[in-house]
Amino acid sequence: MQTNHYDVIVIGSGIGGLVTATQLAAKGAKVLVLERYIIPGGSAGYFERKGYRFDVGASMIFGFGKKGTTNLLTRALSAVNTSIETIADPVQIHYHLPGGLDLKVHRDYEKFLQELIAYFPHEAKGIRQFYDECWRVFNCLNAMELLSLEEIGYLMRVFFAHPRACLGLVKYLPQNAGDVARRYIKDPGLLKFIDMECYCWSVVPADKTPMINAGMVFSDRHYGGINYPKGGVGKIAETLTHGLEKAGGEIKYKARVKEILLDKGKAVGVQLATGEKYYAKRVVSNATRWDTFEKLLPESELPRREQRWQKRYQKSPSFLSLHLGVKADLLPPGTECHHILLEDWGNMEGEQGTIFVSIPTLLDPGLAPEGYHIIHAFTPSSIERWQNLDSKEYGERKEESAQLLIKRLEHIFPGLSSSLDYMEVGTARTHRRFLGREDGTYGPIPRHKLLGLLGMPFNRTVVPNLYCVGDSTFPGQGLNAVAFSGFACGHRIAVDLGLPSA
Ligand SMILES: Cc1cc2nc3c(=O)[nH]c(=O)nc-3n(C[C@H](O)[C@H](O)[C@H](O)COP(=O)(O)OP(=O)(O)OC[C@H]3O[C@@H](n4cnc5c(N)ncnc54)[C@H](O)[C@@H]3O)c2cc1C
Repeated sequence: MQTNHYDVIVIGSGIGGLVTATQLAAKGAKVLVLERYIIPGGSAGYFERKGYRFDVGASMIFGFGKKGTTNLLTRALSAVNTSIETIADPVQIHYHLPGGLDLKVHRDYEKFLQELIAYFPHEAKGIRQFYDECWRVFNCLNAMELLSLEEIGYLMRVFFAHPRACLGLVKYLPQNAGDVARRYIKDPGLLKFIDMECYCWSVVPADKTPMINAGMVFSDRHYGGINYPKGGVGKIAETLTHGLEKAGGEIKYKARVKEILLDKGKAVGVQLATGEKYYAKRVVSNATRWDTFEKLLPESELPRREQRWQKRYQKSPSFLSLHLGVKADLLPPGTECHHILLEDWGNMEGEQGTIFVSIPTLLDPGLAPEGYHIIHAFTPSSIERWQNLDSKEYGERKEESAQLLIKRLEHIFPGLSSSLDYMEVGTARTHRRFLGREDGTYGPIPRHKLLGLLGMPFNRTVVPNLYCVGDSTFPGQGLNAVAFSGFACGHRIAVDLGLPSA
């Protein structure tokens, strides 16, 4: 076989791309991953400064459970004979919300329910009914192997093996969490809390958050739990890459794909910015849909299916991120790893409204110099706020916004500003530049209320032999979700290529 010819080329080494690549390499396909940056991982990558190892984005990690079928990160790693040591987080989130609503989502389900019920005793029954219904969704998902819903053979097999679970999922597929919550809960303050429970990972309120995703998140945090990879989130991509190479796959860095090559309308390979060309029977894009269809394909009218998708989904804002190194004595004993801070419900979805905080060194002290912690604080912020500024204006705006954020964070970490040892500020422009994501977006969000997850595309595209994987495909954002997308994409391609173990 010619050296620049492969079975499958994957554009991008985000977790979605790497899971696709490892699944296929493990099944014997000749796989090449092309990554524009210098390390793998995309939004699950890292960077090092002054002895700190900062996670770029994700740090509340689902998918490392030890049982069931929804522990997709554990399963993806084990498919290429690798694993990662993880550290269990006893609390998913410590919420600091308007009206003095200050509560923790404990790994222990009953303890969490009791803490929530103590704030809303008149809704005790409704709270239990809502979260128990989430468990019903999760139990359906967790009963079956999660592969491509586009593959009829798999659908038949899984239906005959688990008919009740399948029918359960079909029922929930077009539903949103807000509709289910309102069936059981009336208190507007509690419904706001459910909105935040959804917003903090879907970046939309409960009415626009698919019930399938809500069922997964609200139950798995108590089942598989939240587990932090020892050595930082970057270890996941590093270990998957190692597994890929052990399974015979290849990865090239600083390899920016400029164009997907077509022959008679079918994807046949890619051309890099350097001019090099690589060919494959199948091409997978781990870039966002906007990047894939508007930048990587030769210029032509946006396919009708993509036009329809863009009418349903829009780009979510990016984030303003503060990567802080702080003196360890800032944090009193008992401080949790993940926090959400909001002072005014009217600002939940606003520019720099909700603040997300992650302190991974509480779980893995090795990520910072001795006597220091990492605080990663981030808040939604759109590209419009950061465009058309010269470098002086851009620097000033970053500093001004960072100081405002620190002032707000003083509410939960008094003394923060005087404990700072290091600060790096990232904006929508940083996310666009280093993650290669259009406008630095976190991912697609519904423009208006949709029928649950029914509108999210699977992996095949209108271009024959071109597939998409990652957070702009079913079932959306989050590491475990893009791992699901990777399993599905790898499975679909394995069947399409007729790989023996598909
Ligand atoms: C601030 C922040 C916090 C988050 N927190 C969490 C969290 O706590 N828990 C959680 O589960 N999720 C979290 N997420 C979401 C999660 O990180 C993402 O949903 C997920 O990592 C997206 O993975 P992906 O496979 O879709 O692609 P990406 O991570 O976007 O990776 C795509 C890769 O493709 C490469 N690429 C793009 N274009 C090209 C090209 N033309 N040529 C070559 N390479 C290319 C990019 O460089 C990148 O490496 C967070 C995200 C952010 C930004």
